[in-house]
Amino acid sequence: RTEVRNVCCVGAGYVGGPTAAMMALQNPHIRVTVVDRDPARIKQWNSKHLPIHEPGLEEILRIARDGTKAFKFFNEPIRSESFDGMSSASSTTSECESQCGEHREEIIVSARKPNLFFSTEVSKSISEADIVLIAVNTPTKMRGIGSGRATDMTALEAVSREVAIHAKPGAVIVEKSTVPCRTAEMIQDTLKTYRPTLSFEVLSNPEFLAEGTAVTDLLHPARVVIGSSPTPAGYHAASLLTSVYASWVPRSRIVTLNTYSSELSKLVANAMLAQRISSINSISAICEATGASIDEIALSIGLDPRIGSKFLQAGVGFGGSCFKKDILSLTYLAESLGLPEVAEYWNQVLTINDWQRSRFVRRIIKCLNGTVVGKKIAILGYAFKKNTADTRESPSLDAIKSLLDDAPREIAIYDPWCDPSVVRDELARLLGKEILKVNGGPIEVFADVYRACESAHAAVIMTECDEFRKTPASKSPKLAPTKSARKPGLIDPRPFERLEPTESETLSLHKYLKATFNVEDPLGRYENEPVYARRGEEERGE
Ligand code: NAD
Repeated sequence: RTEVRNVCCVGAGYVGGPTAAMMALQNPHIRVTVVDRDPARIKQWNSKHLPIHEPGLEEILRIARDGTKAFKFFNEPIRSESFDGMSSASSTTSECESQCGEHREEIIVSARKPNLFFSTEVSKSISEADIVLIAVNTPTKMRGIGSGRATDMTALEAVSREVAIHAKPGAVIVEKSTVPCRTAEMIQDTLKTYRPTLSFEVLSNPEFLAEGTAVTDLLHPARVVIGSSPTPAGYHAASLLTSVYASWVPRSRIVTLNTYSSELSKLVANAMLAQRISSINSISAICEATGASIDEIALSIGLDPRIGSKFLQAGVGFGGSCFKKDILSLTYLAESLGLPEVAEYWNQVLTINDWQRSRFVRRIIKCLNGTVVGKKIAILGYAFKKNTADTRESPSLDAIKSLLDDAPREIAIYDPWCDPSVVRDELARLLGKEILKVNGGPIEVFADVYRACESAHAAVIMTECDEFRKTPASKSPKLAPTKSARKPGLIDPRPFERLEPTESETLSLHKYLKATFNVEDPLGRYENEPVYARRGEEERGE
C-alpha cells in the first residue's frame, strides 16, 4: 500500500493555510508544503504576523513550521509555552498526557522537526507531492456569461493546468475549494489534455470550517467528506486521503461519497445554513410588529430535536465570502439545468438577507428621529463576524454605505480584530479617499472603542464580539489586559477574575453604552443586535 509522504496545498488562504497546518501538525511523518502565487502572502505565513487571525493557529505553526515545543489541548485551541506559569510543565516531558481542568486533555508536544513549509515555488512543490490539494479562491464571476451568479473558475483552471503539467505520475489531486458540481470532470479533462498517457484520480474533499473557529473545526470536524470515482483506483485514492485525516479524525466521521455528491454537498450545506438564518430573520420582522419575542421563539422551536437550536439567532443578516456566492452558484446550476423553481426557492434566501440588512439601517435612522444629518454614529464590528478580520461581504460595510447616503457628520468604526489602517485603506479603495476624515470626509477608524463611541449619537453593534458583550472593558488603562495578552489568536492565560476590575472602577461595554446614552436598555434593540442611541431633548418624540 502506497504511503503518503508529501502533500502540497495550492492556495495559502483562509482554507489552505489552516487545513494544511492541521494536517502537518497531526502527521509529523508527512512533509506539507503550502504554495501560493502571492509572494506577500507567503512572506506573512513565514513570519510572526500571519495573514489571517484564527485562535490557536499561531501555536500550531510554532510546532509544525518552527519545530518549537508547545502545549496542545485537544478540546481547545493550542497554547504555546510562551505563556507564563505554563512552561515548567514541559521541561522534562517529551510527550505526556495530563488532565488540565474539566474535559481538557493536555498534550505537551516536544520540539520536533518542522514539517510545514510555505513557498512560492508552485510547480516544484506540485511535482514532488503524492497528494495535491487545490484550495484557491472560487468567487462569483463578475463579467461575461453568468456574471454575478456563476462561479469564477479562473484560479482553479490555472492551477489545474499547473497540476496537469507538473504532477508526478500517480499523484492524487484533491478539490478543497468549493466548486460547481462536476468540476472534477473538468480537471480530469485538463489532465488528459496535458498528460494523455497517464491516469490521475481527482477527489472532492470540501472544507466545512468556519472562520473564527477554524482550528477547533479542523480539530473536531463534524465530518470529513471525501468524494471519489466509483472505481478501484478511485477508492484507492480516497483511502490515501483518508489515511491522512485518520491521524486525528475518528474513522466514523470520515464519509466517502461519489465525487459529484461530495461537490454538491458543500453548496447544499451552505445553502441550508444560510436558509436557517433567513428563516429566523424573516420571523423577527413579524415579532417586531406583533410583540412576540424572536429569542423566545428561537428557544422554543430549537428544543424540538427535528429543528435543533443552532443557527437560530436573528441578527443583521449573514455575510462572509461563502454563503452568498455558494447560493448564487447553486441557483445558477439549477437554472442551467432547467429548474427555475428550484433556483427561485434558494434565491429567496438572498432576497431576505438583503432586506434584513436594509431594514436594520432604516431602524437606526428611525431611532435617530429619521435623520442622521450632523450626527455621529459609532459602528462596533467591521469584519463579517467575530474572531476574524475578514471583511468580505460584511453587513457593516453595507450599513456604512447606506448611512453615508443620509449624510452623517461622522461614522466612527471600531473592530477589535481589524487593523484600523487596513480598514481605512479598504474603505478608501471601495468608497473613495475623500470619505476618510483625514481628507475631510465623515469616516474615522479607531483602535479604541471608547474613542469611537465618544459623543456619538448612536452606537451600533454589528458583530457578536465577546468584547462587546462580556469582557470587562475598562476606561482605566492599568486594568486593561496587556497588549500582548490581547493579541488576536492568543488565549489569555490569566484567570478571568484577575482581569475583572471592581464595579466602581469600570463599566462593561454595555453598561458604558447605557450610561453614555442615558438609556436603560438599548434603544431600538434590533433583536440580538442592539442600537444605542442618544436622544437629546430636542430629538425626543417620534
Ligand atoms: P482566499 O482568497 O483566502 O485564498 C485563496 C488563495 O489562492 C490566495 O492566497 C491566492 O493568492 C491563491 N491563488 C489563486 N490562484 C492561484 C494560483 N494560480 N496559484 C497559486 N495560488 C493561487 O480563499 P479562501 O477563503 O481560502 O477560500 C478558498 C476556497 O475554499 C474557496 O473555494 C472557498 O469557497 C472555499 N471555502 C472557504 C471557506 C472560508 O471560510 N473562507 C470555508 C470553506 C470553503
